Amino acid sequence: MPLSSPRLWVVATPLGNPGDLSPRAGEMLNQAELILAEDTRRAGLFFQRHGIHPQGRLCSFFEHNEQERIPAVLRALETGSNVALISDAGTPVIGDPGYRLVRTCREAGFPVSPIPGPCAPVAALCASGLPPCPFSFFGFLPRQAGEKKRLFSTWTGIPTTLVFFERNSRLASTLAIASETLGPRELCLARELTKKHEQLLVDKLENHADLVWDPRGEMTVIIGPPEHEPKTPEESVEQILLEECQAGLPREIAVRAAARVSGWSSKELYARIVASPDRFSPGKRI
Ligand code: SAM
Repeated sequence: MPLSSPRLWVVATPLGNPGDLSPRAGEMLNQAELILAEDTRRAGLFFQRHGIHPQGRLCSFFEHNEQERIPAVLRALETGSNVALISDAGTPVIGDPGYRLVRTCREAGFPVSPIPGPCAPVAALCASGLPPCPFSFFGFLPRQAGEKKRLFSTWTGIPTTLVFFERNSRLASTLAIASETLGPRELCLARELTKKHEQLLVDKLENHADLVWDPRGEMTVIIGPPEHEPKTPEESVEQILLEECQAGLPREIAVRAAARVSGWSSKELYARIVASPDRFSPGKRI
């Protein structure tokens, strides 16, 4: 998308390494008529460090004033202005304010385009070696231990990698809750990505208490999917076996077919047939 086409631009900025600012991002920040920044003082320092000389107005935009800023943004877009949204670091909207603004602009018929770039969850995931697909991103976890436990419980049997932010002071207790709730999994702690003291620590989640990480700096946490496919419940796997036997499949083939879809081993399934041979006779009606 050429920068000459006025709209709301969602502009990614570096996580800490100045070399990660894209030329397109720099160009848009120089030319936008309105720049929305989470922290205008930090944005000013950022512009200085990157040699950016914004032509437009700089305006604060954070979680608690997002709603009241929206009408002014819509008015700016109506007059054909380019509006750039940035956050303190990384990609706006992802664990940062901006979702309500983007949605309202779209609903009001104004185009919205990304100027993509650094994003901590994606940077951590792509260098972790943990399964990238599917992954689920939670932003910051809730503070309370009970709420964390409830959140992890919801995801226990789902085969997805979990990605979230956590404050260093709460990391040890959060990992203990995760380990207890989620069971054996891989863990990656990605700290200070793109900066001088970058560290990616990969280990078993159950070893969390032995992990030595520097408690300072920015941290993204990744927990891999369950190490074993969840098994189909006992009644359901019996039903699968019964239906296959009823359809006339020889026992060996029925067992192999049920093993493929259920997470049960052929040996376990065969043992069930041997225990009640009459129930599983080929062709027998259920
Ligand atoms: N929107 C941002 C993005 O795209 O990365 C994330 C914003 S969120 C408010 C800030 C959190 O991102 C930090 O508390 C930390 O968990 C994570 N983070 C930011 N920079 C990081 C870095 N260099 N290394 C690891 N995690 C980082």
